[in-house]
Amino acid sequence: MLFIAIMRELDRLKEDIEKVRSQFYIFYELTKMMRTTLRLDEIVYIILTGLTAGQGLGFNRAALFLVDEQTNLIKGSMGIGPINAKEAAGIWSHIEEEEKDLYALIKNYHRIKEGGAKPKFMEVVQNLSFPLTKESGIIYDALYEIGHLHITQETLGKFRDDPLVEKLDLNEFLVASVWIRNHPAGLILVDNFFTGKKITDEDTRIFNMFVDQAAGAIENSQKYEDTLTKAHTDALTSLWNYGYFQYRLDEELAQAKAKNYPISLLMIDIDDFKKFNDRRGHIQGDNALRMISTIIRENCRRIDIACRYGGEEFSAILPYTPKEEAHTLAQRIRKSVKRNPILNEHFTVSIGVASFPQDAPDKETFISKSDQALYLAKGAGKDKVILI
Ligand code: GH3
Ligand code: MG
Ligand code: MG
Repeated sequence: MLFIAIMRELDRLKEDIEKVRSQFYIFYELTKMMRTTLRLDEIVYIILTGLTAGQGLGFNRAALFLVDEQTNLIKGSMGIGPINAKEAAGIWSHIEEEEKDLYALIKNYHRIKEGGAKPKFMEVVQNLSFPLTKESGIIYDALYEIGHLHITQETLGKFRDDPLVEKLDLNEFLVASVWIRNHPAGLILVDNFFTGKKITDEDTRIFNMFVDQAAGAIENSQKYEDTLTKAHTDALTSLWNYGYFQYRLDEELAQAKAKNYPISLLMIDIDDFKKFNDRRGHIQGDNALRMISTIIRENCRRIDIACRYGGEEFSAILPYTPKEEAHTLAQRIRKSVKRNPILNEHFTVSIGVASFPQDAPDKETFISKSDQALYLAKGAGKDKVILI
């Protein structure tokens, strides 16, 4: 009898050791992988995948929320894990059958990003946002007051009306705040939505270790992305610069070709700017450039990419936009510049419009066609929009 009990105990210990070993392995792999990229979205994907990967911690779902200081909201950044049991069964069995590892899952992310179907849970999480006030309940408490929270079946009753619990239909779950530069910058949440498996103290301990590790990685990539943004921004106008324009146009054209949708390109040039500069001086010239840039940006849509092409010339890449729509947008910019006096003077702009694939098969022709249209607008007396 005693012998059997000892054997059982040994088996249990072996299982525990095996589990810890595999968790440390995952932890090691993830730390290594976090060093291979600085892109925030990839880092976040690696972290959440690690929390859900079968060989690792194996939570059913993981989500990251990040504080947006500008809007005073905390927003869903990414969610990993299937949203319904059927989808879940499909994905887990897929992982087991093909012995997919973490790298394979990360490759999967690029497939999603490049236009593959977005998993439902990802979409749900990315559509969530909560105000940074006490009304946000658990979110607020975890961020500003408690840090780590383990809500169990027993304690869940008190939180039935909690916005987070409601929105994600939560049962037992863990949530922890992510601290960056001594501020709570986000939250990571995990649960076992499908299996209902109880969350142990050991799970909690490793989860917390993970969150601390994640915070460091997120901080690094945020710094990197800030630097990248600065490097791509024109210092005078805060529009995207010429280098970024070239890069984005390549990217957008590749997407448009793959998915077969139109793009339009505006080339915008301020009329008689030299005269203004000569009359009012270079500093006022710079101020005028800044204000006209603001008008251009404000008349573009969120998906458009407004750039300073050089000097007093601007460009705007308009994805998913056929020529007629681009024409309307260009007229809106032209009229808005004309209507708003700047430094007590009236400015006008000339705009050339070309569209892909209608006018040009490649980037160079695309740019040169919209340039030609701009040239025609100048020739036709300025303050005009011309479609090539
Ligand atoms: P057009 O209507 O034909 O476009 O005439 P324009 O005077 O606007 O064009 P032109 O190319 O002859 O002159 C552009 C002027 O823009 C010359 C230059 O002094 C001014 N400019 C270009 N970049 C800057 C800048 O960064 N700051 C200031 N203040 N002026 C600039
Ligand atoms: Mg000009
Ligand atoms: Mg010019």
